[in-house]
Amino acid sequence: AAQTMEQLVSLSKRRGFIFPGSAIYGGLQGTYDYGPLGVELKNNLKLAWWRANVWEREDMEGIDASILMNKLTWRYSGHEETFVDPMVDCKGCKMRWRADQIAGKCPSCGSAELTEPRPFNLMFKTQVGPVPDPESFSYLRPETAQGIFLNFKHVLDSTSRKLPFGIAQMGKSFRNEITPRNFIFRVREFEQMEIEFFVKPGEDEAWHQKWVEDRINWWLSVGLSKDNLVPYHQKANELAHYAKATVDLLYRFPHGLEELEGIANRTDYDLGSHSKDQGSLGLKARVAPNSHSTEKLTYFDAETKQHVVPFVIEPSAGVDRGVLAVLSEAYAEEQVKPAPADRLKPVEEALGTFLKSVSRNEKLTADAKNALLAEGERIEGALGERLASITGLLSMPGAEGIEVAKKLRGQVDPVVDEFYRTVLHFKPRLAPIKVAVLPLKKNHPGIVDVAKGIRRRLQSSGSMRVVYDDTGAIGKLYRRQDEIGTPFCVTVDFDTLGDGKDASTKDTVTVRHRDSMAQERVAISELEGYLREKMG
Ligand code: ATP
Repeated sequence: AAQTMEQLVSLSKRRGFIFPGSAIYGGLQGTYDYGPLGVELKNNLKLAWWRANVWEREDMEGIDASILMNKLTWRYSGHEETFVDPMVDCKGCKMRWRADQIAGKCPSCGSAELTEPRPFNLMFKTQVGPVPDPESFSYLRPETAQGIFLNFKHVLDSTSRKLPFGIAQMGKSFRNEITPRNFIFRVREFEQMEIEFFVKPGEDEAWHQKWVEDRINWWLSVGLSKDNLVPYHQKANELAHYAKATVDLLYRFPHGLEELEGIANRTDYDLGSHSKDQGSLGLKARVAPNSHSTEKLTYFDAETKQHVVPFVIEPSAGVDRGVLAVLSEAYAEEQVKPAPADRLKPVEEALGTFLKSVSRNEKLTADAKNALLAEGERIEGALGERLASITGLLSMPGAEGIEVAKKLRGQVDPVVDEFYRTVLHFKPRLAPIKVAVLPLKKNHPGIVDVAKGIRRRLQSSGSMRVVYDDTGAIGKLYRRQDEIGTPFCVTVDFDTLGDGKDASTKDTVTVRHRDSMAQERVAISELEGYLREKMG
């Protein structure tokens, strides 16, 4: 797993998983954009969730509700009044913080001179319609759950479901977090995967327990390790006002053990809150009187011939926190084989020369110098880290005379490639790219023809993202695919064409496995079935 967030931030940017939002305009705090590999990873995670929770269950329906909802939703859900964090201002540097996330001291300047905490509502307000009348506003939803409660009757009536059953939804949520931080862990725009599971009152506790187990097993199935996933039973004084019990699933992120998902027993609070004639419903939860709703959100129990308000179990997970957890768990810097001292020594010397010549180079801007020195230190600290970022530094404005860096790269790269690798050990199902097709020689018409044919056939199977890469020597290409977590590389070589020593290898390719780095020959005719089976 990753040791620092920096490892993930740097890999994400370098290889195209996740970029800071609006970067060319100086950024927008609390927003990130998913790049070519990130969008695949995120979609795969969401699909795995949908598959397990909707397709593979008998008792679930899916919906996709609007982000904008009637603002009364947020009055009766309790968000207008209670969806607040305690905010403090630093009297010294004027920075704002969430009081419960700082230990009585400003993290920026260290001052203990703070204002009294005051409530700050996290909902984004937005005008709806062309008339700028003070009443024509709504909120960007801060959770997807309310879209499910408001559609409870629609789903019930259109599907004739019997209790227990659930409604699942994935989608964007927005929170004006006072201090977004820790990469995509706490952002202002994010995605949630939420289930509201409706049960008969009295069966709620057993279902709550069952959902906690289910959700833990699902996170394990997408690659998180048991050691890093910790269930935490909230204490009575920590519970939200609607919850009877909540179990948080905490994950050991690079920045610490923090919430990945919350699984709450919300009783009949939500359906009760959004119902009319609440007095007639026999609610267990205390709800605010509702003078606007036009429906009773009840269920007719055919056995007892009574209308009841179901209890709700809510497993609520963050997609972005899920991506971060999966990425962090998968990350490894590995020594491929022991590096003999006589191979390392010249590299270490080159590194020393590099650092010296950078610090002495008069032509470099201060920024370029600092960046290069930092890069040098990083390489020194972990020779296994790739040097790809040097490429970026080479094109920095003002970075003339960086011949030294190029030379260093020339010396270090082969050693790094031979003895070390950065690898993402994703479950194949989650890997952004499933297969890389690699021609052993990029200009050999026979090899290229066969390789492109394989790429086309795998692509048209419609079940996997496949790439073709001929931009380097084969060892380098393997390392590049390791670094983005591609589980299989398919190499077309002279043996494939029947030009090798052993005629029996004609029409076979090398399949190289990411984790074990083992290679085997597979017949082209069997390749698709073979890969599909390994993909799970
Ligand atoms: P926290 O205490 O960390 O602010 P929360 O308890 O407010 O989180 P919930 O309201 O339970 O979070 O939301 C359910 C899930 O949505 C969380 O477990 C998390 O995965 C995700 N989530 C909540 N806020 C954010 C955010 N600002 N950025 C990314 N994901 C978030």
